[in-house]
Amino acid sequence: MAAAGQWHRMGRLFEKAPALGRWPRVYSTSSAFAEVLRLPQKQLTKVVYPLREMAQYLVGDTGSGLIEQRLFDPSLEDIARAESVFEATDRNRIEYLSSAVRLDHAPSLQQPEVCFIGRSNVGKSSLIKALFSMAPDVEVRVSKKPGHTKKMNFFKVGKYFTLVDMPGYGYRAPEDFVDMVETYLKERKNLKRTFLLVDSVVGITKLDNIAVEMCEEFSLPYVMVLTKIDKSSKGYLLKQVLQIQKFVNTQTQGCFPQLFPISAMTYSGVHLLKCFIADVTGSLK
Ligand code: GDP
Repeated sequence: MAAAGQWHRMGRLFEKAPALGRWPRVYSTSSAFAEVLRLPQKQLTKVVYPLREMAQYLVGDTGSGLIEQRLFDPSLEDIARAESVFEATDRNRIEYLSSAVRLDHAPSLQQPEVCFIGRSNVGKSSLIKALFSMAPDVEVRVSKKPGHTKKMNFFKVGKYFTLVDMPGYGYRAPEDFVDMVETYLKERKNLKRTFLLVDSVVGITKLDNIAVEMCEEFSLPYVMVLTKIDKSSKGYLLKQVLQIQKFVNTQTQGCFPQLFPISAMTYSGVHLLKCFIADVTGSLK
């Protein structure tokens, strides 16, 4: 089981699990999220809380308890508040800062940092683009060919935190990739959370395992994000999620025990992930 020491340092929302049934009224939110809130309840659950939607299909002993335990379960109001962290305004500038191939070329910043890692083609650029959908001036390159992101790209999210897009590993990854990523993960002082992306269609690959081992070795608090959940049937996705959850429960120490399934195409799970990022970086104070 995950050791509490690794992942208990959550922010304010960590242990909050509000009873849901009727959606609370949200007083101020972005227009994009306001549209989500107008969806019928079933659809809204699917978009905002995909794991909760999946859990309802688990009956009997076939995995119940595996994904039903939701540690991070913010209210719609909290999610709406987190949306504003990701919304670019004159007072909340969201911008690309710089790129680096070595840690000593990375911008020296005090604010909390989160990084995104994953094998090439896992959907990392698409997810980061989705996270920055309310910051249209931010350019995140979405690769056509696998393996094109070869640098660490730093983005500043207002006064709140920095987001780092790490180079994808795997096919045609830079030779010094492991050195670059390893040094960053090991030595970056303000790194608050590492988001390890795994393709929900493919499951955990050998390359993902190397990344898991790296996070474990450096005792990093990390989170597994399952990408492209729109691509599979409900049944297949559930099978994959259960398998990955089992892996997290039995093979990891530092991985946050709750998975974050997302789709960059339908935005399913993206709002919840934003809220989690805002929480772990202390942006919701
Ligand atoms: P990266 O190499 O990890 O940055 O991956 P990209 O974001 O470039 O995505 C790789 C491919 O997967 C592209 O063809 C994307 O359009 C596709 N893709 C990424 N995210 C999703 C998703 O959530 N759903 C679907 N259906 N396709 C996705």
